[in-house]
Amino acid sequence: MSPPEQPRVLVVEDEPAQREVLAYNLEAEGFHVDKAENGEEALLLVEENAPDVIVLDWMLPNVSGIEICRRLKMQADTRGVPIIMLSARSEEVDRVRGLETGADDYVVKPYSVAELMARIRAQLRRTRPASVGEKLTFGDIVLDAETHKVHRNEQLLKLGPTEFRLLTTFMEKPGRVWSREQLLDRVWGRDIYVDTRTVDVHIGRLRKALCQHGGDDPLRTVRGAGYALG
Ligand code: CA
Repeated sequence: MSPPEQPRVLVVEDEPAQREVLAYNLEAEGFHVDKAENGEEALLLVEENAPDVIVLDWMLPNVSGIEICRRLKMQADTRGVPIIMLSARSEEVDRVRGLETGADDYVVKPYSVAELMARIRAQLRRTRPASVGEKLTFGDIVLDAETHKVHRNEQLLKLGPTEFRLLTTFMEKPGRVWSREQLLDRVWGRDIYVDTRTVDVHIGRLRKALCQHGGDDPLRTVRGAGYALG
């Protein structure tokens, strides 16, 4: 199983060769890749695996990429997932139409893999900054995803690997309330069975770790809902 903090990319492409080449390159770059060959499959995988980025071919059998994009951008729970449209049509009018449907970026085929990677990273920098090695800051807490170090008020904090992943999740979206189930999916991964009480145990450890050199507890328990940072 891949570590859950690895960014998840969903590749939707009906041409088997193009799909495999892209998946291969993404995996080599350290991404976890899900593959769909049509729109229906894509919608199912979005629901099941909550990807961090979707690379979506425009020309698909039955339901077009544009239609898939439109549907995902209409749903509250999938609206925030960046979509990069792939198209063989380079006309400006198509590009505009693609972006109007809500796509976050638009890449014309044939594309260079390096360019597509850069576009994917640009989207992740916005939505999953720690996954591309960006430093995260919340108040006096600084998390460096590259060195796996956390400082508070310039003092190094001792943190277990699970607490580190929890804190990363919170710091990527300060203020957002995470349910225990959502934290389980994000931090432990969907393929593992862990009791939701385990989340509470690690939240307790994280709280302790964050206050090991003093300072207020920045984590908030939201009754009946879960936990939030700030
Ligand atoms: Ca196609």
